Amino acid sequence: MKHILHKLGLAFASIQPIVLVLVTTGAVMTVAGQVGAGETVIQKATEQFENNPLKVTSLGKGLFMFSGDGGNVTAIVDDGSTLIIDSGVDSRATELNDAIFKATLRPVTRLVNTHWHFDHTGGNVFLGSSGVTIIAQENVKKQLSSVQDVPFVGLRDGHYPSQALPTVTYSKSMVLRQGPQQLTLVNYGPAHTDGDTIIYIARANVAVVGDIFSNPFYPIIDLASGGSIDGMIYSLDRVLAQTDGQTKIVPGHGPVATRADLQEYRDILVQVRQRIQVLIGAGKTMDEVVAAAPTKDFDAKWGSGYVTPDVFTKMVFSSLAGTSTASR
Ligand SMILES: [Zn+2]
Repeated sequence: MKHILHKLGLAFASIQPIVLVLVTTGAVMTVAGQVGAGETVIQKATEQFENNPLKVTSLGKGLFMFSGDGGNVTAIVDDGSTLIIDSGVDSRATELNDAIFKATLRPVTRLVNTHWHFDHTGGNVFLGSSGVTIIAQENVKKQLSSVQDVPFVGLRDGHYPSQALPTVTYSKSMVLRQGPQQLTLVNYGPAHTDGDTIIYIARANVAVVGDIFSNPFYPIIDLASGGSIDGMIYSLDRVLAQTDGQTKIVPGHGPVATRADLQEYRDILVQVRQRIQVLIGAGKTMDEVVAAAPTKDFDAKWGSGYVTPDVFTKMVFSSLAGTSTASR
């Protein structure tokens, strides 16, 4: 599998010179993962994460969500401490920590990372250095320990210092207690990456799902880290089976959602996947599939995030093309 993904990475690299030729007349610097207006997906996203105001939302029962400084951060309070899920971008770590203390009045003692991406682990250095226990699925530790390349979105990161790495890891699932709340951490196999954690917080009826769901934007599928469209859909189906109409769903990015929102998003992924699979079956190339605009009727609602419809289409195409190569 890794081997195939490597090959895909090379295939993307080989289209890069064409992109560069097209844009040099516009005097725009570009890197791999070109998305159109001279910016990679990651550059566009980072700009938002550096500049959006930090917002606090109470989820009730001692739970808070902090948003704006990268991926959403969830805080769960008990008598003497705060456990947080994800740590934002590194440039805003102290701002986030101050905001968490102001809302919870308790020090952060534990951190769970939903996956390895910089906008969910950027505060790990700051928090790990102050003695916070970092918990994650075992692949997150591997990914943060060495340099990772995700050429498709223009991301190169990893090789974090040792204090930023998870010290408690699990493979399939793990249960934590935080005051009256029971947190069940689950990995349903590769989805957004190969180290995703979904966290169910039982008494509060909250599910923190990380980047398998961006609300309401097309997601990144991190193929280089083992992610796939089929894995995303599989994980979403498991979450739908574990939640109800009252569950508050905390997405990786965007406002708190309902199970109905998650169902709509899952159905869109299934439809786009099906359309692209049909086009691949008809022998279409990636560019031809993009030209066929298989996401068109969903773009008004879902296409205005940092993942454009074209980039999303290319990621789904590549995920499915990789799968068909592997089965030959
Ligand atoms: Zn991510």
